[in-house]
Amino acid sequence: MLTKKNIVTKNKPGRFGEFGGQYIPETLMHEVTKLAAAYEHYRQDPKFQAELKDLLDNYANRPSLLYHAKKMSADLGGAQIYFKREDLNHTGSHKINNVLGQVLLAKKMGKTRVIAETGAGQHGVATATVAALMGMECEIFMGEVDTKRQALNVYRMELLGAKVHSITTGTGTLKDAVNAAMQEWSRRTADTHYVIGSVMGPAPFPAMVADFQSVISQEIKQQLLAETGKLPDAVVACVGGGSNAMGAFYHFISEPTVRLIGCEAAGKGVNTKQHAATVERGSTGIFHGMKSLFLQNDDGQIDQVYSISAGLDYPGIGPQHADLAATKRAEYVGITDDEAVSAFEYIAREEGIIAAIESCHAVAYVRKLAPTMRPDQIIVCNLSGRGDKDVAAIARYRGKKIYD
Ligand SMILES: *Cc1c(COP(=O)(O)O)cnc(C)c1O
Repeated sequence: MLTKKNIVTKNKPGRFGEFGGQYIPETLMHEVTKLAAAYEHYRQDPKFQAELKDLLDNYANRPSLLYHAKKMSADLGGAQIYFKREDLNHTGSHKINNVLGQVLLAKKMGKTRVIAETGAGQHGVATATVAALMGMECEIFMGEVDTKRQALNVYRMELLGAKVHSITTGTGTLKDAVNAAMQEWSRRTADTHYVIGSVMGPAPFPAMVADFQSVISQEIKQQLLAETGKLPDAVVACVGGGSNAMGAFYHFISEPTVRLIGCEAAGKGVNTKQHAATVERGSTGIFHGMKSLFLQNDDGQIDQVYSISAGLDYPGIGPQHADLAATKRAEYVGITDDEAVSAFEYIAREEGIIAAIESCHAVAYVRKLAPTMRPDQIIVCNLSGRGDKDVAAIARYRGKKIYD
């Protein structure tokens, strides 16, 4: 499987420090190389960028608002808190930014079919949505356990014209759905593009997805400068694979005064076996086509992970985050289920926003951070998605009986 020539070396693109690369079977190497070349071309093509911007603005509802949460800022009694409202995008999260970019690219490459993995269903729904818009065939791979937990999203994808495959191998969850989608892609590349849903997988995916999500920090910078004339003191975002965080960090990485903070799912606590805190508890490994940090046992087998939030329930993290952690440019903190649920209720009552439970991991950290800062300082917190999908689970967590 691994030969010397399919490993991108340190001097070549596709590496973030020691992380990243292309650890894939020979059968995929040709297609991934073609994809990298096509992306390099269209990335610099003003016509492609103009088409993408038109879709982002007129279909996905960009730019998203940068909202000054004055009531919450006053209540916490420290820094000024701003929310970047990715929850207001079409389909309800940041995922659409990446999917529009990748499906447009696939179309330019002459593909007629897209496939994708999905955990909770958010990325599957976004992919099925854009496939419908662009007239592409669409098949989604989803773990069997997840298809049962998220039956409504399965039907949503079917309404949008996608075929959903229930994956029964392994633990029947997200990592197995990624394996199945990778296998399907290596079987059929001629007409098919694999729309990876986060800043992970073999190069060029991590850098390409970060580029497509970078619109988030590009807007934050413009919006905050226009309103306050300042850069933020801290940017806070939740981290599953790391795409919304990468998008929110991107244009601030080279601004040393801006603290970058990623919030991982600590589940029932990092000292239990039930969490997904990859940076805090993971180690270097190779999985899903990349070298990065993973939660794994001593034999290198990928551990089962847990979080109340299905979107953060991934045993790895994108290679650029692994590098930002190793070089200490970004900080990563663990937030437990309890803290996230309490933040879900808090932001609803305080600001009238029902935010995704994933995003509430970031909100929970803002509640700790803001009181330690001065009122002339600024925190921008990325609200990666809306929380309608989580209401039933939060009720269950609180022992309330409602209809699903
Ligand atoms: C998928 C998802 C996430 C986690 O994915 P990242 O790649 O880490 O951003 C976070 N929030 C929401 C709302 C999601 O749908």
